[in-house]
Amino acid sequence: MNFLRRLFGGQSSPADNALHLYVRCGHCGAPVHVRVNLYNDLAVEFGDSEDVAGYHLRKEIMDSRCFRLIYADLSFDRNRRELARSIEGGEFISRDEFERLTSTPAEPQ
Ligand SMILES: [Zn+2]
Repeated sequence: MNFLRRLFGGQSSPADNALHLYVRCGHCGAPVHVRVNLYNDLAVEFGDSEDVAGYHLRKEIMDSRCFRLIYADLSFDRNRRELARSIEGGEFISRDEFERLTSTPAEPQ
């Protein structure tokens, strides 16, 4: 059973294998929370020798206010550790900021 433990990254991986993204729509400012499953949602990227070189995630996110699409682009190493992230149509925010935004009533524009 040891190889299974190694395969799934041992104790360093999150308990539910989830990555939580908090973004804010660049158009209307609505906060959105997206849960990514690190074992189902990532696309494998192969290196020269057909080894797994890393993983990639292209996520389309839609807020519930203006329904514009936000595109998040994340890359991971072969251990599914995040290497880089970029976003179009919005911005990444922290969990604290997300909670602050969702707990305040929307201000009139
Ligand atoms: Zn929006």
